[in-house]
Amino acid sequence: MHEVGRGHIQAGPGPGSSRSASGGRGVSTPLETAGRLLQATALPGDIRLADPTLPGFTAVDYHRIACHLIFRCRRCGTCCTTGDPIKLRQEDLVQIARHLKIPVNRAARKLTVTLPGSGQNKPVLGFKKVRPCKFYDPVARGCKIYSVRPWSCRIFPFLGIYGSEDQVLVHRSCPGSVEAMEVLTAALEEVRSSPDYAPTTDPQVVMAARRWFNDQLGSL
Ligand code: SF4
Ligand code: SF4
Repeated sequence: MHEVGRGHIQAGPGPGSSRSASGGRGVSTPLETAGRLLQATALPGDIRLADPTLPGFTAVDYHRIACHLIFRCRRCGTCCTTGDPIKLRQEDLVQIARHLKIPVNRAARKLTVTLPGSGQNKPVLGFKKVRPCKFYDPVARGCKIYSVRPWSCRIFPFLGIYGSEDQVLVHRSCPGSVEAMEVLTAALEEVRSSPDYAPTTDPQVVMAARRWFNDQLGSL
């Protein structure tokens, strides 16, 4: 079955689950993100050698990050009710156990299974209860453990393992994902057609834009 991630939906009466509601990411406009994207991808990737602290992201990776920054969850609930498996890291489990005020080994027994395909030394955990996720609140249409939701939920729908894909994947079942791609496409067009726009060839500008994306990722 196609794996569906889970996003940014927060239970409770608060506003929708925009980035600003999802835990402190800085807010950038689509136009700013598009402008930075054009700068970050203006030169071949090997200029990162000039700044070894920058990750080796591809142009596609920068597009995916840009989409994710623009993304706004529409709280349809599809990902939390159909996602299978819902993976979690050991550190996610620790956070969730702390949040639920139960010992980690009890949380592991109660909440998780080892997913098929796990390595012996490196089990991959998933929630035991999915479709819907145990933590999905259908009334509030949000996540009951939003502040400690697993990393796999935080990075849905655009992020994942960098460099592993050669195109940006849009999840058709996720309206926020489709919309983000449309908004980014329009913003890129607007930036490119501005009379002030001039493609950069300055490595310093390119690296500054890449650092900007890296900083944005760091605050996810
Ligand atoms: S933990 Fe469950 S309810 Fe919360 S975001 Fe992830 S899938 Fe959705
Ligand atoms: S499918 Fe997309 S829009 Fe719907 S709740 Fe999940 S992340 Fe939000």
